[in-house]
Amino acid sequence: MTTPRTPARPARAKQKRGEGQWALGYREPLNPNERSKKDDHPLNVRARIENIYAHRGFDAIDPGDLRGRFRWFGLYTQRKPGIDGGRTAALEPEELDDRYFMLRVRIDGGALTTGQLTVLGEISQAYARDTADITDRQNIQYHWIRIEDVPAIWAKLENAGMTTMEACGDSPRVMLGSPVAGISADEVIDGTPALDEIKRRYIGKPEFANLPRKFKTAISGQPDVAHEIHDVAFVGVDHPEHGPGFDVWVGGGLSTNPMLGQRLGAWVPLDEVPDVWEGVISIFRDYGYRRLRSRARLKFLVKDWGAEKFRQVLQDEYLKRELIDGPPPADPAVPIDHVGVHPQVDGKFYVGAAPIAGRSSGGTLVAVAKAAERAGSGRVRLTPQQKVVVLDVPEAQVTTLAAELTELGLETKPSPWRRGVMACTGLEFCKLAIVETKARAQQLVADLEKSLADIQDGLETPVTVHLNGCPNSCARIQTADIGLKGQIVTDADGNQVEGFQVHLGGGLGLDAGFGRKLRGHKVTSDELTGYVERVVRNYVSGREPGERFPQWA
Ligand code: SF4
Repeated sequence: MTTPRTPARPARAKQKRGEGQWALGYREPLNPNERSKKDDHPLNVRARIENIYAHRGFDAIDPGDLRGRFRWFGLYTQRKPGIDGGRTAALEPEELDDRYFMLRVRIDGGALTTGQLTVLGEISQAYARDTADITDRQNIQYHWIRIEDVPAIWAKLENAGMTTMEACGDSPRVMLGSPVAGISADEVIDGTPALDEIKRRYIGKPEFANLPRKFKTAISGQPDVAHEIHDVAFVGVDHPEHGPGFDVWVGGGLSTNPMLGQRLGAWVPLDEVPDVWEGVISIFRDYGYRRLRSRARLKFLVKDWGAEKFRQVLQDEYLKRELIDGPPPADPAVPIDHVGVHPQVDGKFYVGAAPIAGRSSGGTLVAVAKAAERAGSGRVRLTPQQKVVVLDVPEAQVTTLAAELTELGLETKPSPWRRGVMACTGLEFCKLAIVETKARAQQLVADLEKSLADIQDGLETPVTVHLNGCPNSCARIQTADIGLKGQIVTDADGNQVEGFQVHLGGGLGLDAGFGRKLRGHKVTSDELTGYVERVVRNYVSGREPGERFPQWA
């Protein structure tokens, strides 16, 4: 295991302003976030929550913990109800703070037993007013959490083998993994052992928990985890000489400066994935830019260095050996979301079902677990598309399970709109939000199911529509066919109202590229359904047979 290094500051630093890289000697904090992490390691906050804040209540919480270190355990204050999005930027953070929290449970690879799913649902019912959204990072996200209840929630989660450790913060966040790892005929290799080993070795370790900013990982034996937009990704590939292993990507990310990850051109066998992951996160920790938060993601370093130098530093300074050259992964013909009924390699089936934009509840989770168990399954998966998949279903149980899931609002044969819509947390709970997203997505799906009913059967792949509540890209708007970035817009009568900046033609996989922001192309929230309807009808009427939504970027 490597430790942070502190070589002398080079002479060149006098001419060129440093970016706060530890490896170049900039160990003095250059902004308040770095200062906070240096003053007290963020992982220390757990003891204060358990020993002090849970007993003395919200008003006893130190502001540095409340708006900083709490994140390392998945806790953010949620937005105070009743503040409209037009006032978000004008208010101080404390004016937006509610006394309740959002709590994110990290579920690496989205992998749950039905017992764990039941525990998640019961916690929601007991402590979170029945909220339990499925995020596009395979997490469960609660709202309305009181600080007094956090230790009891952690105890229940940890008894069931789950955690909120490093669910947020400048740390290695939840790792995406294929929902159908180990059972899919389409995967090159099962990445689960690598994912489990990284979690065992590195998650919760202080030496990897003070990074310049967040660090996102994806590991899958097939391209079903949006690998192009992760800080580091390992994608299954068959090497002509060495067999199944992983292709390594670094430096992807969205938000306000989206960049696609770059291939290192290296093939890594399954058992070496954790070591390579350690090397990449160590480069980020040591060489990542810490001066400006807006440049503190790995993508900026990769952009400046290029893939070749990054691989050289990884090999020379961290792995102390050469990596094996390898081929790129195959691109899927269509985006993979695991919705519907599919055969497994062992003769059983997996059943993927769609809520709308990940909106769920504690009661729903408990009921899904019961339905899965009645069908003979003990395993459920959450997906990067905000969907749910029940694994290991015997053929004789498939129809009954699908009907039960549909009863619960989780459709196994969803309309293309229900299937293709994703939304972030938005104005309901997020302090950064400018517009409402979850309810808007639900309304949009209901409207499109009526207004586009005449053409939906002719769509081979769903048109993806992603809604963000602000310029951050929690719902990956730049990778959607129709990406919608929440902002205040001017309506036809000159009023300032909620609306969206439109990005068209993004996508991952075969045609990876970001949607094009169309200058002046804005739509009010009230006009959204009509707008999407027009765009989709234009696409359908003008396309060639089998043509995907046009890539404009
Ligand atoms: Fe909040 Fe913005 Fe992320 Fe949506 S995109 S969850 S509004 S920060």
